[in-house]
Amino acid sequence: MKVLIVGAGLAGLRTAESLRGAGFAGEITIVGEEPHFPYNRPPLSKDALANGLTIADLEFKRRESIADVRWIFNDSALSTNYAERSVLLESGRLESFDILVAATGIRPRVLNVPGAEKSKFSLRNFTEAQELRTSMLGAEKLVIVGAGFIGCEIAATARKLGINVAVVAADPEPMFRPLGAEFGRAMRERHEAEGVKFHMDAKIAGYLGGDSATGVSLESGEEILGDLVVEAIGSLPNTEWLAGGELDLQDGVLVDSSMRATAPSDLSVYAVGDVARYAFDLFDSTPRRIEHWNLPTETGRRAGKSIAHFLTTGEVLVEPVNFVPSFWSDQYEDNVQSFGIPGIADSINVVDGELAGDCVVEYLRDGKVVGVVGVNTSAKLAPYRKRFQEIN
Ligand SMILES: Cc1cc2nc3c(=O)[nH]c(=O)nc-3n(C[C@H](O)[C@H](O)[C@H](O)COP(=O)(O)OP(=O)(O)OC[C@H]3O[C@@H](n4cnc5c(N)ncnc54)[C@H](O)[C@@H]3O)c2cc1C
Repeated sequence: MKVLIVGAGLAGLRTAESLRGAGFAGEITIVGEEPHFPYNRPPLSKDALANGLTIADLEFKRRESIADVRWIFNDSALSTNYAERSVLLESGRLESFDILVAATGIRPRVLNVPGAEKSKFSLRNFTEAQELRTSMLGAEKLVIVGAGFIGCEIAATARKLGINVAVVAADPEPMFRPLGAEFGRAMRERHEAEGVKFHMDAKIAGYLGGDSATGVSLESGEEILGDLVVEAIGSLPNTEWLAGGELDLQDGVLVDSSMRATAPSDLSVYAVGDVARYAFDLFDSTPRRIEHWNLPTETGRRAGKSIAHFLTTGEVLVEPVNFVPSFWSDQYEDNVQSFGIPGIADSINVVDGELAGDCVVEYLRDGKVVGVVGVNTSAKLAPYRKRFQEIN
């Protein structure tokens, strides 16, 4: 029996560990397009960008139980032959599988506007973090397109390095979609107090500069100038290599609670981590793809256990998804933390402190708490994880 895991990130790593933990003794191969063992991405917009960490600082420890895993680096999956049960890699190599696990994560979405091509950066992997850091160190002003978590974290890191920052975004407030307008406004004010200039509700018409980007022009006619531009406008799931079968690949791979892809006849494909879309049963039955650091571990564990169970018994393991999405974000000296799915709420209630300072904010939908977000209040937030698991 051979399990082929495509994507050598946190989700792929956790799936392999869980397979071995659940007693799977067959072959495990992990294919990754990067040249590295799985490493931790959150520092890429924080410590690694500010202080230049090495890949050795970021790599996850690999357990003894997966010492016999076969790793293929610097190669990526191009296509899948479901009938033959094989994946074609860019090198021309064909990897067969009995069970296939998609752990390919996401890539940054690219802004499709005309103008200069160079000095435009995005941030998803170690190489991009190194390139961005090198360029930032010589820069006086940075233009960041996008005001989500990554854009805001890069802004905070750049300010720490003494670089002037302008953030340009189409939304009305930073982190508007996951955290809503009121919390977003409070976060904008924290950034403004640190010197960041925001251009919100702005539509970008193009990049300025000849060869290298020297800023952006807006549809309003305004021009925002800088030495380099970072795009942080969201993500696209890496699923192209899975096309041509029966899988539902609209916004990631649709999977059931055992992380098995929902397809009429294909029981051998699973998906984990940022690339997977599934229902969070504690909240509702709508499948969602959520890019939080705890979910590659939760989904990897579930997939490994489900696959081992299926291979041993021939039966599908049915367990509800009881994972509570959680994330943190470090911006300046503030630690923003969340549990649940605040982005689906219709109102908020500040239950501790105030939005401008340290606080705990409950997010409600139809009067029921579906998320909680806090600033510098992690001890007060932690009990919510259990609470979501108990009350829902
Ligand atoms: C800069 C940054 C900061 C972050 N900060 C936070 C934070 O503060 N808090 C938080 O909760 N979350 C944060 N996250 C999100 C968190 O890191 C992700 O949720 C997590 O890394 C997802 O793990 P994954 O294994 O699903 O995907 P990834 O870690 O992206 O791994 C997928 C791997 O698959 C590879 N791959 C893609 N396509 C192919 C292919 N066709 N063939 C072979 N390999 C392929 C990719 O190169 C990659 O190595 C951050 C992410 C980034 C990028």
